[in-house]
Amino acid sequence: MKPPICDVCGRRFDTDDGGGLVYFQDAKSLPDGMTGHPDAVEWYCKRHYDAAYALRESTYAEAMQAMNKSPFSLLSSLIARLRNLV
Ligand SMILES: [Zn+2]
Repeated sequence: MKPPICDVCGRRFDTDDGGGLVYFQDAKSLPDGMTGHPDAVEWYCKRHYDAAYALRESTYAEAMQAMNKSPFSLLSSLIARLRNLV
């Protein structure tokens, strides 16, 4: 399993503060005995979790398209990038 880094804003976060994993419609569990991170299962910080969770009935690709179209997610990823520069 990957560490908790938000798939939208790229920030690493503490799951105690909120956020979590979202299993999209096309998520596949790994075969028994195999370790790693399954496809279409991603982490979201508390700011992006609700939006991602609302899209869990979509495939991962559809959900990403929907989230990237929202002006809010574009703005917040821009802000996150600017913060990393400061
Ligand atoms: Zn985020």
